[in-house]
Amino acid sequence: MTFRTRFAPSPTGPLHLGHAYSALIAARAAQAQGGAFLLRIEDIDQSRSRSHWEDQIYDDLTWMGLAWPTPVMRQSDRSEAYQAAVGRLTDMGLTYPCVCRRSDIEAAAGAPQEGVPQFGPDGRIYPGTCRQRTFPESSDHVVRLNMAKALDQVDDLSFNEVGPLFTGTHNLDKAAMLREVGDIILVRRGMAASYHLAVVVDDADQAITQVTRGADLWEATQIHVVLQKLLGVSTPVYHHHDLIRDDAGKRLAKRDDARAIATYRAEGATPMDILKMLGLSR
Ligand code: GLU
Repeated sequence: MTFRTRFAPSPTGPLHLGHAYSALIAARAAQAQGGAFLLRIEDIDQSRSRSHWEDQIYDDLTWMGLAWPTPVMRQSDRSEAYQAAVGRLTDMGLTYPCVCRRSDIEAAAGAPQEGVPQFGPDGRIYPGTCRQRTFPESSDHVVRLNMAKALDQVDDLSFNEVGPLFTGTHNLDKAAMLREVGDIILVRRGMAASYHLAVVVDDADQAITQVTRGADLWEATQIHVVLQKLLGVSTPVYHHHDLIRDDAGKRLAKRDDARAIATYRAEGATPMDILKMLGLSR
């Protein structure tokens, strides 16, 4: 099987050092394995995505010396693929329409109880208010996965990890998935799919064999593995890399106030300067 990995930025802001690190690690792994490095534009959230950020992504990555096959997959072109996947999960009896608003979920959650997690990778863990609802519902709903039913359908919940945190086979714990993740959203209001569903469908359609991403997505990966097993697509190997930190040890994630590659460029930095900053010059 040919090695295929990807860099999948969301065009909702400039690329930061953390993005550059992720892209370079993925591209180098592909090079070392004689495989492919793909770029995917994760513009599923059209309310936050902007074409000028997408253009800047191409520009910054090219400046850093990276290349990828074209045409580039863009999530905004792929609603049909996502609908088909949700349809499949619905046919399996694993989805339901949820009409709750954030305030309903807050109200239903009640007082915090000791030892019971309130928040998962997707925000507040859904209390299950709409779990008995069936389609069709009003058009103003999100589609959720019934996690308990979903986990009943899968036996093997393992994936292979090759990152610095841990290398080996990781087995998901069903009880923890129920308690700490719960009924995730598959289709958001005004969107063709949630990030989780879109990523799983895209990685499968692009025949990605290794997902390279930051360690901040470790919890999200667990959701992706469940969806892969339900949809009958193969689970890639995962490489969760370290997050870049600033001199004070503060994490430079995408949403943090990290410095943009474009700013370094404007100040006259070279690609080699960026590699040095990332500890990747060799
Ligand atoms: N597009 C997302 C991000 O930029 C996810 C990347 C991934 O799936 O690895 O955070």
